[in-house]
Amino acid sequence: MEANGHDEASRILHELQSLKATKSDIDRRISALESQLRHLNLQNGTVVNTSALPNPITAAHHDLTPEMIHRYSRHLLLPSFGVEAQSNLINSSILVVGAGGLGSPALLYLAACGAGRLGIVDHDVVELNNMHRQVIHTEAFIGQPKVKSAATTCRSINSSVQIVEHHEALRTSNALEIFNQYPLYYFFAQIQSVSFNYIVEMLPLVSGAALGLEGQLTVYNYNGGPCYRCLFPTPPPTTACQRCADSGVLGVVPGIIGCLQALEAIKIASAVGEPLSGRMLLFDALAARIRIVKIRGRSPQCEACGENATFTQQQFREFDYEKFTQSPLTPSLNIPLPSLEARLPEISSALKEEEERNGSSSAKLYVICRRGNDSQRAVQNLHKLGFTSARDIVGGLESWAHDVDSNFPTY
Ligand SMILES: [Zn+2]
Repeated sequence: MEANGHDEASRILHELQSLKATKSDIDRRISALESQLRHLNLQNGTVVNTSALPNPITAAHHDLTPEMIHRYSRHLLLPSFGVEAQSNLINSSILVVGAGGLGSPALLYLAACGAGRLGIVDHDVVELNNMHRQVIHTEAFIGQPKVKSAATTCRSINSSVQIVEHHEALRTSNALEIFNQYPLYYFFAQIQSVSFNYIVEMLPLVSGAALGLEGQLTVYNYNGGPCYRCLFPTPPPTTACQRCADSGVLGVVPGIIGCLQALEAIKIASAVGEPLSGRMLLFDALAARIRIVKIRGRSPQCEACGENATFTQQQFREFDYEKFTQSPLTPSLNIPLPSLEARLPEISSALKEEEERNGSSSAKLYVICRRGNDSQRAVQNLHKLGFTSARDIVGGLESWAHDVDSNFPTY
C-alpha cells in the first residue's frame, strides 16, 4: 500500500512540477510580449492602452499590501520579475538546512527578498571561529543557538516573513515531520548534510558546497532534472567527506555560494528564469573563474526516483546513513599518512583483536589508499616500524573498484 501511495505521490509531484514549468514558460512569454508591445508603442508614439496592458504594480491578482508594494518596489519594477513573481515568493515556503557559512547569506537574502515562510534547521551554537564566514550571527550571540541568532537577524530585517526555528539536527527520523511543514520546500544542503541528498527524493533541492577556495552549486529534483542519487548511485566513503571543521575555508567563498543558492531558490519559488537544474556551477576563487558544466540527466534506474524506485517513507525514517557509507572492506581503520606513526597502537590492537577472533597467530595487514601511492609509502614505513606483515594493495581503491568489485564506491 505504502509503495503505491509513494508512486502516486511521485506521479503527482512530477505532474505538478511539469505544469509549473509550463506556467512559468507562458508567464515569461507573456511578459516578453508585453514588454515588446510597450517598446513598439513607445517607438510609434502610441498611447499605451492600460486596459489591455495592466500596470505591472496594480495588476488585478496579487497578495501585496501597500507596505509590501513599497518594500519590494525595486523587484516590482523589474519587467522579468514584477508583481506575480513577488506574490509567488510571498506565498512560498523555504527551508534552509544549516545556519552556517552557506545558510547565513542565503537566509539574509531570502528574508530581505520576502520569502513567505522561512524555516531554519540547526542544532549548533555560535562560536568565535564561525564569525569570519557565518555573517548572519553577531558577537552578542556567541554561545547561543545558531537557529535563535539567525531567526533574530531575519526578523529584524523583515518582520513580515514568518520565521520558523527548528533547533535540532536534521535526521532521517525527524526530516519528514519537518519537511511536511513546508508545502513547497526548497531546501539547502551543506556538505555536512550530504546524507540527505541521498535519501530525499523529489524535493526541489538547491545544493551548495564550499571548501577552501572553491565552491559548487546545482539544483536537484527540479522539473524532471536529476536527483542527487541519479548522479551518485553509491555514496563516497565517509573519509572522502571533508567538512569545514577539518579543513580551511576562506569566509567569502561560502558567502558567494550561499548568495547563489538564495538566487536559485528565489527563481524556483517565484517561477522566473532558468534554474540551475541539470547543470553545475563550479567556482574557483583564486583564479576568479566560474564554469558551468552540464551534468547527467535523470536516471531511469535510480533507486530514489527511477521507474522502479521503491523507496518508501518508512524506509526513509529507518535509513541508516552510517551503515550505508561504511567501508565494504571490514574490519578496517582509516589513518591519514601523516598520523600513521602516532596511531600505531591502534593498528597493533586491531591486529590482536582479529587474531583472537580467528584463533590465528598472525592476522594479515593490508594497506589501501585512493590510487596506491600513499599506501606504498605507508607499507615501507610500517615495515621499518616492525609491522613486517604489511602488504600494499597495488593501484588502490580505484583498481579495487575496476578489477575486483565493480560496486565498490569510488570518489
Ligand atoms: Zn534519481
